[in-house]
Amino acid sequence: MSNRAFNFNAGPAALPLEVLERAQAEFVDFQGTGMSIMEMSHRGAVYEGVHNDTASRLLKLLGNPSGYQVLFLQGGASTQFAMLPMNLLTEGKTAGYVKSGSWANKALKEAKLIGDTFIASSSEEDKYMSTPDVSRLQLPENTAYVHLTSNETIEGTQFREFPDTGSVPLIADMSSDILCRPFDLNQFGLVYAGAQKNLGPSGLTVVIAREELLKNSPKHLPTMFRYDTHAESNSLYNTPPSFSVYMMNEVLKWIEEQGSLEGIEEKNREKADLLYQTIDNSGGFYRGCVHPEDRSIMNVTFRMASEELEKLFVKESEKEGFVGLKGHRSVGGLRASIYNAVPYGSIKALVDFMNQFQKSHG
Ligand SMILES: *Cc1c(COP(=O)(O)O)cnc(C)c1O
Repeated sequence: MSNRAFNFNAGPAALPLEVLERAQAEFVDFQGTGMSIMEMSHRGAVYEGVHNDTASRLLKLLGNPSGYQVLFLQGGASTQFAMLPMNLLTEGKTAGYVKSGSWANKALKEAKLIGDTFIASSSEEDKYMSTPDVSRLQLPENTAYVHLTSNETIEGTQFREFPDTGSVPLIADMSSDILCRPFDLNQFGLVYAGAQKNLGPSGLTVVIAREELLKNSPKHLPTMFRYDTHAESNSLYNTPPSFSVYMMNEVLKWIEEQGSLEGIEEKNREKADLLYQTIDNSGGFYRGCVHPEDRSIMNVTFRMASEELEKLFVKESEKEGFVGLKGHRSVGGLRASIYNAVPYGSIKALVDFMNQFQKSHG
């Protein structure tokens, strides 16, 4: 298919072409039922099969660690910013937040509305151009959990390693890098992600948590905001975003076909290396924003000598079929989001364009 855009959108973002085509093929008549998956009852056996298969496929990709449950929720990662402290930051406890950038700060803002918090570590002094040091966290005895953002989508930083928080549950917002590489789920009490970057379409929020963290929601919480409601009902308390769950299942099958998380990581590193090398070898024409050791392999942020030049870069790139290269409005500059589904060919096309642009404007 030659009319596919070179899609570097930050989210919703590129989906694998194979997945879109598979979904198209069974869009109107799902498995001979005479209905689209979108038209079915979420209480029927056909949808329930897809639902359960998606959850178990996700856990299988993460090595089937024992004692974890997957929840399919709605409201985006932004709702988890509140739902997490509502359920786990109970009276008399405090929660540690790692301040790594824009999304971490939004998570902290919501937690402060619910209970006591403290800054476990911060890279604010470095304007969030590095990941905070999490090697020596000081955690008060009454710490309910430690929250971090594994990949800062806007600034372009990514944690390489995660801290050992002992008996204190480690929580991660993995919205922009979940399944981009293998990780040890056993290190975490709970991870969550909006689906629209690396898992599928928007409308679905995935929570993966240790079962014991899903059991003790405070009594006063409304039903829909309780983890225990969704855990006890297999995420079928109310109508789930069924089409998005189905699409996520197809994305997970596609990841398996890429060699699972090891295969995906290798491809992601090749893609990121090509782009960062082009930036670093440009003699300062393009400048990476983030300290090299903390650079994200999902969101590549860079700048040029002036805002005018950056504007021109975006404008000319759009003429050539590139989408989504403008940096987030809060930080400016340029950003290429190169999630799992962005093919190597798109990055090859981008670096060719970057070299050409430098020739004519450098
Ligand atoms: C996109 C993003 C969010 C917000 O997700 P929504 O699903 O739109 O609420 C939160 N955290 C991170 C790290 C993100 O990249």
